[in-house]
Amino acid sequence: MSWLQDPATIQCLYIVAFALFIYGLMGLTGPRTAVRGNLIAAVGMAIAVLATALTPGMGNWWLILLGIALGTAVGVPAARKVKMTAMPQMVALFNGVGGGAVALVAWVEFRQSNGFTGEPLYVSIATLFAAVVGSVSFWGSNVAFGKLQEILPGRPITVGRMQQPLNLLLVLITLFCGVAVVAGGTSELLMIGLLVASALLGVAVVLPIGGADMPVVISLLNAFTGLSAAATGIALNNTALIVAGMIVGASGSILTNLMAKAMNRSIPAIVAGGFGGDGTTASASGGPTDKTVRRTSASDAAIQMSYARQVVVVPGYGMAVAQAQHAVREMAKELEAKGVNVYYAIHPVAGRMPGHMNVLLAEADVPYEQLKEMDEINGEFARTDVALVIGANDVTNPAAHTDPGSPIYGMPILNVNESRSVIVLKRGMSHGFAGVDNELYYDPRTSMLFGDAKKSVSQVVEELRAL
Ligand code: NDP
Repeated sequence: MSWLQDPATIQCLYIVAFALFIYGLMGLTGPRTAVRGNLIAAVGMAIAVLATALTPGMGNWWLILLGIALGTAVGVPAARKVKMTAMPQMVALFNGVGGGAVALVAWVEFRQSNGFTGEPLYVSIATLFAAVVGSVSFWGSNVAFGKLQEILPGRPITVGRMQQPLNLLLVLITLFCGVAVVAGGTSELLMIGLLVASALLGVAVVLPIGGADMPVVISLLNAFTGLSAAATGIALNNTALIVAGMIVGASGSILTNLMAKAMNRSIPAIVAGGFGGDGTTASASGGPTDKTVRRTSASDAAIQMSYARQVVVVPGYGMAVAQAQHAVREMAKELEAKGVNVYYAIHPVAGRMPGHMNVLLAEADVPYEQLKEMDEINGEFARTDVALVIGANDVTNPAAHTDPGSPIYGMPILNVNESRSVIVLKRGMSHGFAGVDNELYYDPRTSMLFGDAKKSVSQVVEELRAL
């Protein structure tokens, strides 16, 4: 055994890795330091993998190398090619794979120890916990991926009133198998039953969840994966898994809590299954065809904004799709040169991932102090001359306040309808992620500037320069 394989060296490497995880995480608190923070944490993870590889008796090196090669061949191109707007799907998928790996490790442990024969009680409990939570997370994340990727319908899919009893039955089967194993059962069928029941539970919990609530679910499943990894760490006596798992579990839980609060949803209701509406996907108040909207042009929009005292830009998913952030920054500079105050209203779930708008606007060098969180800006709309909604839809939909039948009812929104006038930039009358019509577009104070957001904003910039 060389000094490299000395347990003290391995523990030291783990400590360095944990310090880098925590230091990297601190970098993620702001968009400007996030990339560096991510790199630091990645170096930490590489050191943790190295330390694990050095552990004596690691096993079949060819299989390990094959696994690393396959993971790299799939992961690196996927991460490089993914569009920012498709990031949540990727997070869901990669996160799910982590949960699946944990469930498989738990199964292997069960087999190798012949159903935990002779193992302390805490090992069997922690391993079974990891198997259940990892399996729920893997299958739930796959459903979330399918919904976000539009392979599955985004609307809630339920078995109606039987949903809760079905979920309860799956929980009971899982518990039965788990208790039987802890009580000394060594039949592999018990382990398979536990894995299958929790897999079905993952599917049954996520299928009934509507599109608008998916951000909270992804974050919750992320926390689950972290907790299952930490449980595996306890069972395998691996400090790296415990620390990394707890960091993911704790940060995922905090994020879930913050997002659930922002969306006005309760986490127990999520776990119980089927929240976010009863399956209705259209507003009770009619469709887009029977109402008229007022159109505007780039030059009228430019004139209207140049005479404003205050303009609030409301970015959403469409701004990300169009990659309009740089043009938006140019427009704001032109307006500011004309003495107009410009702010940006940031909804916590605008776009397709937490912090999506902050990241895009930081990329375009928008001054951080002009970014206003929802609670801070909502009081400002009544004093705002023009609210410029750029590719945002659900996060501005007044149905969240007024239509109890709407799947987004109860979600806090940006109160743009309180502004003196609203200009909406989008390509047509398509719905947003939640699939519901938006009354804001038919408000007499609203005018629509149809077209790709980047093109429309660039035209407005030209018009502003010509004024
Ligand atoms: P929405 O998805 O509600 O609406 C986006 C709008 O952008 C669409 O109506 C679309 O209309 C328009 N659009 C698309 N492409 C362009 C383009 N090139 N130029 C101009 N407009 C365009 O977005 P919001 O940001 O308002 O809301 C986010 C939604 O996503 C919420 O329901 C949220 O719950 C959900 N979600 C959020 C996540 C998060 O973590 N932030 C994760 C997953 C989901 P048109 O096609 O007519 O142009």
